[in-house]
Order: sequence, then structure tokens, then C-alpha cells
Amino acid sequence: MKRPDNDSFHMSLDEFAENARKAVDEIVAYYKNIESYPVLSKSEPGDVFSSLPGNAPEKGEQFDDIIRDVRDIILPGLTHWQSPMFFGYFPSNTSGPSIIGELISAGLGVQGMLWATSPACTELETRVLDWTAKMLGLPDAFMSSGTGGGVIQDSASSAALCAVIAAREQVKRTGTPQENGLAAYASEEAHSSVEKALRISGVDISRLRRVPVDETFAMRADALEAMIAEDLQKGIHPFFIAATLGTTSSNGIDPVPEIGPVAEKHHMWLHVDAAMSGTAAVCPEYRYINKGLHFADSYCFNPHKWMFTNFDCDCFYVKERKHLIQALSILPEYLRNEATESGRVFDYRDWQIPLGRRFRSLKLWFVIRHYGIEGLQYHIRKHIELAQYFAGFVRASDTFELAVEPPFNLVCFRYKGTDKENELLLKNVNKSGSMFMTHTRMDGKYTLRMCIGQTNTRQEHVYRAWHILEHAASVLQS
Ligand code: PLP
Repeated sequence: MKRPDNDSFHMSLDEFAENARKAVDEIVAYYKNIESYPVLSKSEPGDVFSSLPGNAPEKGEQFDDIIRDVRDIILPGLTHWQSPMFFGYFPSNTSGPSIIGELISAGLGVQGMLWATSPACTELETRVLDWTAKMLGLPDAFMSSGTGGGVIQDSASSAALCAVIAAREQVKRTGTPQENGLAAYASEEAHSSVEKALRISGVDISRLRRVPVDETFAMRADALEAMIAEDLQKGIHPFFIAATLGTTSSNGIDPVPEIGPVAEKHHMWLHVDAAMSGTAAVCPEYRYINKGLHFADSYCFNPHKWMFTNFDCDCFYVKERKHLIQALSILPEYLRNEATESGRVFDYRDWQIPLGRRFRSLKLWFVIRHYGIEGLQYHIRKHIELAQYFAGFVRASDTFELAVEPPFNLVCFRYKGTDKENELLLKNVNKSGSMFMTHTRMDGKYTLRMCIGQTNTRQEHVYRAWHILEHAASVLQS
């Protein structure tokens, strides 16, 4: 359908304004009604696929028809991550300012691979990542004014990959003998992204040592030392340690103050993955988790998990940016430019795997400016309070028990029964559509995980969730 006013197929600016308003109204309606949808999609495999035509339309369609299909076909196929009754995995929360920042980023349509391709895209990112480092109380070395700096990655997995590649490059550059191969260390509870990063970067995966954890599911530094010593004896070169602040299964906090000196002694790269729990450090009373970070070569946390910034936004910091750039920089003729050659600018394409990059700092900037540090602290504290409120119900219950004391906003617990019963209870609860939770295994036992980090979750939702669980348990018993 040719557009009458500009003799092209493009959406005119007037049409854009009208349609964009409709789209915003649609999003507002979605949030107003979100609690009426089953949190876990009831869609069966193939339902959405078969509701969509097999061929792309020959002629352009009306905007209202496309929006109607979002409502009728897409929404039923969604699991509602933004529902206040979503307690699964780790959250992927968002907020009004973040959505608007994302919209403006799409509107500006900038590709910020080089400083020269949009100076504001690079410099806003540098400034906002410095703000965030200060907000979390990270060491000064991670700031752009020093030897390090921060960059936005799409995910904590990409951050881990960049860290591994930088670490491996340093091993090569220092001429360390590697004939018996390299070894990396992460706790038994570390996220699978560490293994994936090593696999992608060509490190023999049988040389990923899974370090045992203590009763709080935190890495045992003594076991780490022992494993490194054993590898050294075999002529294997220990090069990389991944510590986690807030493991995915159990929210274990690895003891970086003890791990750090081990990394330093053996000249190993220490990467600290604080994907979700790093955000807790916005509140001074939880900043203790950052102790020992001055030992870290790299660190990451995800505002796209627990800082009201929609996916994707991982903040990745390095102590020595030259190490990252040495590993990832390639400058073909077609990207050469004066600014790069002057050495006075950051070209973030050298800090990541892809070349192109979105203007992601806009949404984070909007979030931080909207909430202020005070607002972020308020909501993070509320989530932690709500998790502790929920843990209180579990502690007082005859039917459920805690699997571990929850440090922040993740409560791991069990129905006092068999693995099968726990599995069935979770299945029934999720099938009801009234709330959504996920599970893990801790100490070999099927364990329920209740993670409280959705933007709009309030006490009434947590209270309701507890009663849904109690009811599900009583059905099991009957
Ligand atoms: N690290 C930890 C501790 C996580 O919990 C997760 C995801 O939940 C990741 C890394 C991977 O995060 P991303 O989805 O940003 O790659």
C-alpha cells in the first residue's frame, strides 16, 4: 500500500506519531491487565507458529491489524516476566524510564561501534558506567579515569567470554609455557556461562575445575588453592578464576577477599560475576559483597536482571582496558578514522565480540536519572525485605523448610517431602497460572526457588504466593 503523502511505502511522520501513541496505549493496557494473564504461558508447542501465515504479506497491512495480532496471537504465547507474580529464575525486570530510553534509542537508530560513528553513544556509556561503578562502590581502578573502564555487553555470558579471551591473550603475551594446557576454576555452583565461555574460546573444557562449596554454597578458597597446586605439579597452567557474587541456584557469595590473593599469587585472571546480586551493593548495608574486588581483573553485573533496565544490559568492567583491547581489537582499513588514530577516544567495538552496537546506555541513563540512587536503594531494599518476609513464612511452617538462609532476594526452600512431591507441587502451582517459580538442585535435592525482583511485586503478592504454595501442599497431602 503506497502512502499517499510521500509517494513511498514508508510510514509518514504523522502516521508514526499516531501509531506510536497507540502502541504506548497498548503497553499501558498490558501493564494494567497483567495480573489477569496466566503468568506461565499456556501455549502448546507450535500454537503460535501455526497461528501465523506461512508467507509474508504481499501488500503492506494496516497498523491496527498488526497490533490486534500482538494482542490475540503474541500475548497468549508469552510468559509474563513483568507480572508481579513472576518469581522464577532471576528476574529480568524493566520500568517506564527504561522502556522510554529503549524507544528513544530505537528512534535515533544509532550504531555506535566507533566513537566517530556517534560520539554521544560512546561518551554517555562511559559516563553512565562510571556512575554505576561509584553507585556500587566498585574500586577506582574500574573507572574510565584510571587504567580500566566499563562497557555495556548484551549479557553476563558475553562478559565472561570477553574476560576469558582477555585472560588467554595475557597468557600468550607473557610467553608463559602452556604445553600442558591451561586450567580454569569456578565453583560447583558457578553459572554455565563460564563453561560456555571457555568452550567457545577453545580452552579444553576438561580443565575447568569445579571447586567445592561450603554450607552457604560459596566457593572454598582452601579447595581452590589445593586444586591449583595439583595442576601446577602436573605442569598445567592455571590462568582463570571465575568467582560469583550470588550464584544462580543458591545465591552463594564466593569469598573474593580469600580468592583474590590466590589469583594474585599465581598471576591468574580473576573475573567476578555478580549478574543479579551485584545490584544489592547499591545499598551501603549490602556493599560488603564487594570486599576484595580490588583483586579482580574484571567484574560484571546485569541491570537487566534487578535494576529496572530492560534486557539487554550487562555492565562489564575491567581493571586494565588494554588487556581487553589487545585481545579484541582488529582495525580494517574501512574503519580507520582520525579519532581512533588520535588515541583520545574509546572505540567500544574493541571491548566486545560483535562489531556493531546499540545505544544501550540511554535506557540505563533514563533509569538512573528517573529513580536517583535513593529510588533504586528503596526498591532493592523492598525486594530484599519481601524475600525475608517470605523466608519468615517458610521458617515458621511445618510443611516447608529453607534449603539455605537467603542472603538477599532469592529464597531456596523445599516442601518437606520427596523430590517427586516437590516437583509435582511446582508443576501444579505453575500450571494454575496464578504465579510462577522455578527449581534447582541443592545438595542433590529438588529445591524450589522464589526470587523476588519484579518491578511491581509488593507485599500482597508475596503473601498471596505463600498461600498458593500452602494450598498446593495441602492438596498434595490430601
Ligand atoms: N551469571 C549468573 C550468576 C547468572 O545467574 C546468569 C543468568 O541468570 C548469568 C551469568 C548469565 O546471564 P546472561 O543471561 O546475562 O548471559
